Amino acid sequence: MVTSTGKKALVTGAAGFLGSHLVDKLLGDGWQVTGLDNLQTGAMQNLAHLSGNAKFNFIKHDVTEPAEIETDMIFNLACPASPPAYQADPIRTLKTSVLGAMHFLELAARQKAIFVQASTSEVYGDPLVHPQREDYWGHVNPIGIRSCYDEGKRAAETLCFDYRRKENVDVKVARIFNTYGPRMDPNDGRVVSNFIVQALKGEPITVYGDGLQTRSFCFVDDLIGAIHGLSKLPPGEAGPVNIGNPGEFTMLELAEQVLALTGSKSRLIYNPLPQDDPKQRKPDISRAQALMGWEPKVGLHEGLQKTIAYFSQRLKAA
Ligand code: NAD
Ligand code: UDP
Repeated sequence: MVTSTGKKALVTGAAGFLGSHLVDKLLGDGWQVTGLDNLQTGAMQNLAHLSGNAKFNFIKHDVTEPAEIETDMIFNLACPASPPAYQADPIRTLKTSVLGAMHFLELAARQKAIFVQASTSEVYGDPLVHPQREDYWGHVNPIGIRSCYDEGKRAAETLCFDYRRKENVDVKVARIFNTYGPRMDPNDGRVVSNFIVQALKGEPITVYGDGLQTRSFCFVDDLIGAIHGLSKLPPGEAGPVNIGNPGEFTMLELAEQVLALTGSKSRLIYNPLPQDDPKQRKPDISRAQALMGWEPKVGLHEGLQKTIAYFSQRLKAA
């Protein structure tokens, strides 16, 4: 049996929400891990518990620049994921996705490393097919305010498959649906963190539009298990593979659950729906089930309880 002990993994975006959890998982599995991040939306606080860990090292680096690092496996997560964060500097976002994928695919080719790409359900845009299967090509506005992220991630997928065809890189593409949990940035503007922080502070809950748009929320531990499983698939298996929790909720249902679990008296206020906001989203996960026997275990109720506990503690500490 091949063990991961002594093998080297590289995680870009390591100081972010998902990247820091992935680093923990890989270290637990015996990998020697290099975390790389420019700290644009991530924070060293997410990696503070690893200080002194001889199997982990951190490099401050921007993926829009090439890097030479010895590695057997690359997980490419570097990119802001929250709409306000990726829209704040859209040209930078596009560069991060496209140049980042290109430089680290080049590195994978040189190092003969496996390359795992954090893609997104946003490649389906505002989907006309529901639930979304991997063979759906999507419905993306190429010139809207979300395009820097959606088209950047689509181009990154293209690069993965071109490097697979031309350079024989063993790529694995994960299409990640909305994921939440501890270590989300309280101020990054995504709906789960916004609603929980607002509820805990007794501030109004900001519902965008009529709140009837849907999302499917995956707890971080489930997501990390799937990314890890994907990295172990045989070379012929590149995906893309949807990773998400098929439970589908409106934003009003999410707000109700957050209010009930926090016991908050916050009221709802309605703000305009952002441009191109997808109306519905739900993964078809049959490919992940067939390839990895994977399905999420943590439902929204339990996942929200854990996330609320994290934010309560963080707000108290602040
Ligand atoms: P995050 O913002 O918490 O983490 C992203 C990390 O990438 C941050 O630490 C940031 O500083 C770093 N980064 C950004 N640009 C960089 C650059 N040019 N060079 C180096 N580092 C850079 O977001 P997250 O939720 O942890 O998302 C991680 C990845 O997963 C992203 O690629 C995102 O697109 C993808 N994803 C996340 C979700 C989700 O719901 N969390 C859904 C779909 C896809
Ligand atoms: N949303 C909301 N209130 C907020 C933040 C977001 O109603 O304070 C809505 C947003 O318009 C979208 C959904 O929640 O319909 C999910 O938004 P998020 O930014 O978390 O992720 P994404 O739109 O990328 O799926």
